[in-house]
Amino acid sequence: SLKGKTAIVTGSNSGIGLGVAREMARAGADVVLNSFTDRDEDHKLAEELAAEFGVSARYIQADMSKGADCRALIETAGRCDILVNNAGIQHVAPIEDFPVDKWDAIIAINLTSAFHTTAAALPMMRKAGWGRVINIASAHGLTASPYKSAYISAKHGIVGMTKTVALETAKEPITANAICPGYVLTPLVEAQIPDTAKKYDMTEEEVKEKVILERQPSKEFATVEQIGGTAVFLCSDAAVQITGTTISVDGGWTAL
Ligand code: NAD
Repeated sequence: SLKGKTAIVTGSNSGIGLGVAREMARAGADVVLNSFTDRDEDHKLAEELAAEFGVSARYIQADMSKGADCRALIETAGRCDILVNNAGIQHVAPIEDFPVDKWDAIIAINLTSAFHTTAAALPMMRKAGWGRVINIASAHGLTASPYKSAYISAKHGIVGMTKTVALETAKEPITANAICPGYVLTPLVEAQIPDTAKKYDMTEEEVKEKVILERQPSKEFATVEQIGGTAVFLCSDAAVQITGTTISVDGGWTAL
């Protein structure tokens, strides 16, 4: 059980982040939810999670594109046993047309935020004598696809940073690993299906199988519960010697 541990999950008012936070709470951890918005519904998510799993939960607004906000998130939480760097955005364009502001935002949110949160969280983990850094990378942290230069650079970058943090903490009761999901059916992915169906004159089922899951041999989406379960496993005693590596949850994508 993760009772008594506090898990901070960045970008967790939707999708994989919320799924990971839910599995952490189910395992008994207190959780800190985060995103850049500060709406009643964000805080309500934390209340619901606390009520459902009998843990303490709160929502802390912080913009992961800003270094000071990233560090303030950890400081405000005051305790961080499990850090899940999940916040991420995507933009798709050929490199010569790639908007510079999108490049900068993707590198900031998908990569640099984890540098800041990790730097702020490690002293707390050392003080507590236990810690887990879990970075949500991607199959695109290990392989590439055209038109996603910023995302793929950031995801390869975070895999490299994961290995470095693992080496810097190797002799301590702290591990750092990256989870590399293939396609997960989150609101982000779901939103693209109707338009793609129109564009290719396909049914939504055909889009899922032939376009989105083209690279995923299982032809099934991974679920947010599976990503969350993998994160909980990385916090278990069985995973104590697992550090500086990647775990793919991608239906065979990286075996191709
Ligand atoms: P999502 O859009 O549902 O979730 C992204 C989360 O990040 C949201 O909670 C959003 O509010 C938050 N976020 C965005 N910008 C932020 C900012 N500036 N500050 C703080 N929070 C911010 O998407 P998702 O699919 O759940 O993606 C979550 C992570 O998983 C991302 O890092 C993504 O790259 C990765 N991933 C997703 C898939 C997939 O198929 N969905 C596959 C591999 C990896």
